[in-house]
Amino acid sequence: MPPTLPIYLDNHATTRVDPRVVEAMLPFFTEIYGNAASRGHSFGHRARGAVEAARSQVASLLDCSAKEIIWTSGATESNNLAIQGVAHARADRGRHLITVATEHKAVLDTFEAMEDEGFETQILEVQRDGSLAEGALRAAIRPDTILVSAMAANNEVGTLHDLAAIGALCGERGVVFHCDGVQAATICPLPVHELGIDLLSLSAHKMYGPKGVGALYVRRGTPRLKLAPIFHGGGHERGMRSGTLDVPSIVGMGLAAELAEQGLADVEVMRSRRDRLYQGLASAVTGLYLNGPELGERAANNLNVSFDGVEAEALLMAIREIAVSTGSACTSATLEPSHVLRAMGIGDDIAHGSIRFGLGRFNTDEEIDYVVETIALKVTELRALSPLYEDP
Ligand SMILES: *Cc1c(COP(=O)(O)O)cnc(C)c1O
Repeated sequence: MPPTLPIYLDNHATTRVDPRVVEAMLPFFTEIYGNAASRGHSFGHRARGAVEAARSQVASLLDCSAKEIIWTSGATESNNLAIQGVAHARADRGRHLITVATEHKAVLDTFEAMEDEGFETQILEVQRDGSLAEGALRAAIRPDTILVSAMAANNEVGTLHDLAAIGALCGERGVVFHCDGVQAATICPLPVHELGIDLLSLSAHKMYGPKGVGALYVRRGTPRLKLAPIFHGGGHERGMRSGTLDVPSIVGMGLAAELAEQGLADVEVMRSRRDRLYQGLASAVTGLYLNGPELGERAANNLNVSFDGVEAEALLMAIREIAVSTGSACTSATLEPSHVLRAMGIGDDIAHGSIRFGLGRFNTDEEIDYVVETIALKVTELRALSPLYEDP
């Protein structure tokens, strides 16, 4: 049976809200609508109880204490709060901040803002597979380094950083380690204490929860980790993030985290479906390039490939019933290859042909087979139309 169209394979951009999550959220709009900060009546009590239960669900996913979870509006805010918060709280100890060239813009642009404020930022180069070279971070850390920010899984090519090694190094040198864990939450365990992570950002909408809510894990214990808040107000969330809590969304994120934890057991199903996609494409078309790490070494839900002689934008137009994204960001009039592919040293030609597939919980083998067949057909057609392409 052919699959229902369109097919969604853009799960690095956002995910469908799991129907179980929607159902759990609904009563908190119309029945349990109290302000979680309200004392002295049951509406407030019940809202607060739900918020605290959700906090425990997120903490369980990260193997940490519920007291270490702060609610935010999403990972952009979590990343900002982590980076700005450490920079501002620790400026008297040093002003040197380190991150990696393949980070999400929410990290890189925040680093740029810190640079404008007078901090010194260092952006580490990566190797061809998006990983850090052995010793690169160790060589970069200075006595005045106060923060290292490195993501768990890359959102374009699925590179997985060695978090335990980074965490150990940061611990040894007394540097705060912030990790953007957004893309890893549904595909690998993130035991933050064991990994030596001090701060970790999550976003609900990348893990089958609602948009507009996220979390920041902030390690407790000694030495004390203090963050300067960005918002000033009622002193919610241990003074780190003022603002009335979005109770329905927080409830949704809590369940999303619980389902993500359960789902870790099924990651191999995702991986084999992703491998089926790659193997299918590799045997159906010539001139296929894999961008990023070897399949076995990248996030189980990621595939990023280029088809020799085919512009990704043209292919996207030809396969409108399949939702994927390209490795180019449309800026004004020009098509700029993504900063991630550039940082990995991938030439503009191949980068312009880059297609990113992000598999999700709801994809099926039938969808994958349809996608392979359709793309193989369209790639052949596009190449036949191209005066420059010669089949090898
Ligand atoms: C999506 C994403 C973000 C931003 O998260 P929002 O909740 O949409 O603000 C940050 N980092 C990574 C790696 C992402 O994929």
